[in-house]
Amino acid sequence: MQTDVLDHGYVELVETWGSDERIIQAARMSTGKGFQGWGSRCKKCGHTFDDKINRCDLIDCGGTESAPGDEKLLKFLWDHKHATPFEMAGLTIEVKAPIMVFREWHRHRTQSYNEMSARYTPLPDENYVPSLERLMTRGTANKQASAAAGSKVLDEETACAWRADLVRVYRDLQDVYERGLYWGVPKELARLPVPVGRYSKMRASANLRNWLAFVTLRSDGAAQWEIRQYSDAVGKIISEKFPRTWAVYSVGSA
Ligand SMILES: Cc1cc2nc3c(=O)[nH]c(=O)nc-3n(C[C@H](O)[C@H](O)[C@H](O)COP(=O)(O)OP(=O)(O)OC[C@H]3O[C@@H](n4cnc5c(N)ncnc54)[C@H](O)[C@@H]3O)c2cc1C
Repeated sequence: MQTDVLDHGYVELVETWGSDERIIQAARMSTGKGFQGWGSRCKKCGHTFDDKINRCDLIDCGGTESAPGDEKLLKFLWDHKHATPFEMAGLTIEVKAPIMVFREWHRHRTQSYNEMSARYTPLPDENYVPSLERLMTRGTANKQASAAAGSKVLDEETACAWRADLVRVYRDLQDVYERGLYWGVPKELARLPVPVGRYSKMRASANLRNWLAFVTLRSDGAAQWEIRQYSDAVGKIISEKFPRTWAVYSVGSA
């Protein structure tokens, strides 16, 4: 499961553990009742209940009254910040992103990381070049997308020229990097000209509670557009692998 992000990056699922059911089981440790099931339950026997005909699915039972399924408990846990059961599930992902994005990402100190190191292997010559549309976008409510104080109003022609300058500078910096490697400058110093637009790779791992906190902060309109694209890709993975948790999370944060 891989989602392409920006011009050379991606978010790829390595593995998940736990499930929506495991979260319920963990919460029910207090009563010893375990996971009861999703969807309406029969009040009499606890089996699935057919809401259309108002009867228990188990013919022998004949129950006619229903109780809500475990979605109700999941929502209760989330709404009341009873968050530890959400630590019983989680995911590990592989991410390829500009170093600039990793600078923001690594502020989430309670995730676990392993990143490619230019001390040991030269970083491939791949750099982030923002699209023209991205350069021209201004957020009205988002100070982080604002231009420097006193700057001119950017037009498309100047934005194109700036992009060309950026590509040229990337090329020049790569040239210095490669010459350093060629002449035997230690790899850990030859990397000095590597720009923050250079793509790097890492694995990041955390429990579901932590990932939801990450998505809350980084898919928000106040976060920089680039990390938001990565965060949205993480959110997509969570929505597919933990659909019931994602449902209560999305409603809760709407
Ligand atoms: C829009 C936006 C703008 C930002 N701008 C800046 C900026 O300009 N400069 C900047 O430096 N950072 C900035 N940050 C980073 C921000 O300050 C946080 O470091 C980052 O969002 C990680 O959040 P966190 O601390 O909750 O996550 P984690 O580090 O993963 O921590 C998770 C939780 O653990 C607890 N915790 C972890 N460490 C400690 C600790 N040492 N003491 C007490 N409790 C702890 C807290 O409850 C915390 O919420 C920005 C973040 C966002 C989303």
